[in-house]
Amino acid sequence: MASIFSRIAQGEIPAAKIYEDDQTLAFLDINPATRGHALVICKEEHPDLLSVPPDLLAAVAQTTQKVARAVTEALKPDGYNVMQNNGSAAGQEVFHYHVHIVPRWEGDNAIRAWKQGTADTQELQELATLISRQVQ
Ligand code: 5GP
Repeated sequence: MASIFSRIAQGEIPAAKIYEDDQTLAFLDINPATRGHALVICKEEHPDLLSVPPDLLAAVAQTTQKVARAVTEALKPDGYNVMQNNGSAAGQEVFHYHVHIVPRWEGDNAIRAWKQGTADTQELQELATLISRQVQ
């Protein structure tokens, strides 16, 4: 079954659209964290970051920059977060690759920062080695 975002891309479900091109679409989130919270999707359905072909990923990145610029111009926020969730443990609800652009205003407390941990230098180096071996 097509994802809710595919149905929006195909015009079956309405959305407050901001920008569209051949490969990508940007529209406002129906349950916004802040005023102007936007989503950028690739029209082709891929569940998450690892499954999106590189050229499409680049297209989403370009649209994200375009929309972030437009949001900044239109709403004059103090800042904005660009976020992307992968897997339910990370908060992903719609398994169709998308990027969140969340305008932020000082003191809005709209998104809680992660709890910062600690790590020693050796542990960080070991982890970096473990991960870097898997880079392809
Ligand atoms: P995720 O948690 O998967 O990263 O984010 C999914 C986002 O999609 C949520 O912020 C949710 O509010 C938004 N969303 C889910 N269904 C719809 C919909 O039908 N229309 C729009 N505009 N946004 C939706």
